[in-house]
Parts: sequence; structure tokens; C-alpha cells
Amino acid sequence: MTKILMYTVRPDERAAIDAWVAANDIQVDTNTVEFGPDTVDLAKGYDGVVIQQHGAIPDEMVYQKLKAFGIKQLTLRITGYDIVNLDAATANGLVVTNVPAYSPRSVSELVLAQVMRLIRHLGEASAREAKDDYSLAGLEAPEIHNLTVGIIGAGKIGSAVARIFRALGATVIVSDPVKRPELADTVSYVDLNTLLTTSDVVTVHTPLDGLTTHLIDADALRKMKPTAYLINAARGPIVDTEALIKALNDHTIAGAALDTIEGEAGIFGEDRSQTLVDNQALETLKAMPNVEISPHIGFYTDAAVKNMIDISLDDVKTILEGGKSAHQVN
Ligand code: NAD
Repeated sequence: MTKILMYTVRPDERAAIDAWVAANDIQVDTNTVEFGPDTVDLAKGYDGVVIQQHGAIPDEMVYQKLKAFGIKQLTLRITGYDIVNLDAATANGLVVTNVPAYSPRSVSELVLAQVMRLIRHLGEASAREAKDDYSLAGLEAPEIHNLTVGIIGAGKIGSAVARIFRALGATVIVSDPVKRPELADTVSYVDLNTLLTTSDVVTVHTPLDGLTTHLIDADALRKMKPTAYLINAARGPIVDTEALIKALNDHTIAGAALDTIEGEAGIFGEDRSQTLVDNQALETLKAMPNVEISPHIGFYTDAAVKNMIDISLDDVKTILEGGKSAHQVN
């Protein structure tokens, strides 16, 4: 019988995995460890591998071992495949697939929640309430329909963000080299400079690549309005964290929400309450009432979890049966 190994499985994924196994004549085993040099040997004897994690896998040896085990694919049940060394995977004959759209609404609804918390100053209000300070000074909020929301990268998730904020009456502007005709009634396309200088909310939804690493740096932050908020629910390194902390301290911008941050691997997704968290930037940002931090939970909705399991396992099955997955990224 065909055997698939899924790495880093969470308890909440169990029901969807069991449902898929019941509908397919394939054995699926699971573990709770991240995939990498220390754990690749667990894949020996399996036909297929499915992974999901934030930690990068640059080490070429890992891909050589998969090839040596006779494995022909490496399937991610997440969207971001920047963690995979695609050159090494390709050189070792591995078809790499991702789940390009498990539920764009999942991330975009978190962005909505973050924006509403920021513009209503709920972090500051909670910090005051903890001290029995119920005063109103500084808590006056704008209304969303009077704001301009600037989206950098309106692909699957950015488009869903655009539709949500447009439905709430906000003006939505987008900077993206790819213009989508289906967004013509929803957004206006502008250049990045115009977006940064005119938006009340700047939210980033590009992939992480050579062009977008530190796309939001000190220069970009300086261009934003002092009343504006920055949201990053895409990938941590798109925002230069040190520059962001300086901008917040200098009141260059009004606040930020981060669902992802540089150096989050090994922290976000883990219970680190009993061990020292070695990320000073995260500690600094956590202490700011005008900063919302969430531990990379944008994707984490019931609909998205089921789609990630079904789409990834269907892809492994397709590839093992000699077919071509529509989600191949190399
Ligand atoms: P997508 O590929 O559908 O869309 C990305 C868009 O960004 C495209 O329209 C592309 O043209 C545009 N783009 C690329 N480079 C750009 C640049 N330099 N400037 C402006 N636009 C640029 O991707 P997606 O599925 O919408 O995912 C967006 C981001 O969200 C990715 O970084 C992904 O890893 C991340 N993500 C986060 C979570 C989470 O839990 N927080 C979940 C899923 C995806």
C-alpha cells in the first residue's frame, strides 16, 4: 500500500486527515517534528512526504536523502515555499508543490481584526484598563469608511483584503505590478510611493523574495503618514524590524500589527512560556500598546485547515500516480 508521511501534524489536523484516509486507499502516518537534517531519515520507507513549518530547509543533503529514499516529491501544505531550497529539490528530481490558496479569507479576516483593533486603539485601552484608567484622552478613532487602505501585492490574499475593506466603505488602493481586471471596480492601482504617502493603513501581501525582503525599510516607513498603521501578515522579513521599532519610537507611524516577524521560527506556533525567548525585537514590540502581535495565525481557520490537508494529500496522490499537480512550484 502507498505510504505518505506528514511532518509537524497538529491535533486539530487529525479529523481532516482521517477523513481523507477514509476516502483514499493510502496509508498516512504523522509525526510532530519539523522536517530537516535531523528528521529527514524518518521519511525512509515512505512513498510521499508532506511538510508544514516556518523554519527554512537550505541544507542540500536533505534533498539528496529524499532522492536516495526513492521519494519523488516534497509537498507543502502551506502557501509559502520560500523555506524550500528549490534548486536543490529540482537537482534531486523532487516535484515541490504548495497549497496556493487554502482560504484567502482566513488571512484577510485576521487583517480586518488587526486593523479594527489598531484604529480603535483597543491595545492602548486595554493597557489603561489594567491600571483602572478609564479616561478617553487619545482614544478618539477614525471611522473605516473615511480611510484609505493601501495594499502592497493584491494577489489571492490581497484581493480578499481589498474586497473586505471596500465593502466597509474604505477607499482601497493597490501597488502591484500585476493588475487584475476583476478588481477594477474595487481598487485603484497606484505606484508604491503614492501608496505609502497617502494610505491610512498599509498592508503587505507580497511573497517574500529578493525584491520584497525589507521592502518596508526606514525609507518606506518615513514616507508613511504619522497617523498611519502598518500591517504585515505576509512574511516577517518583508518588514525591517529594527527600522519599524525606530519608526514607532519616533512616532513616524502610529502603530503596527504583525502576524509574522523576522526570527519567528521556533517561537511562533510554540509554547515558549517556560523557556527564554531570544528575540529582543519581539519583546520590544510586545510592550508597545500600539502594536498588535499574533503568532502567525492568519491561515488558522477551520475551512483553511481542511483545505490544506485535502489539497496537499490529493497532490501527493496525483504525483505518485504519475500525474501532474497544478500546484508545482519548481
Ligand atoms: P499571491 O502570489 O496570490 O499574491 C502576491 C501578489 O504580490 C501578486 O499579485 C504579485 O504580483 C504581487 N507582488 C509580487 N511582488 C511584488 C512587489 N515587489 N510589489 C508589489 N506587489 C508584488 O500570494 P498570496 O497567496 O496572496 O500570499 C501573500 C503573502 O501572504 C505571501 O507572503 C504568503 O506567504 C503570505 N501568507 C501568510 C499567511 C499567514 O498565516 N499569515 C498565510 C498564507 C500566506
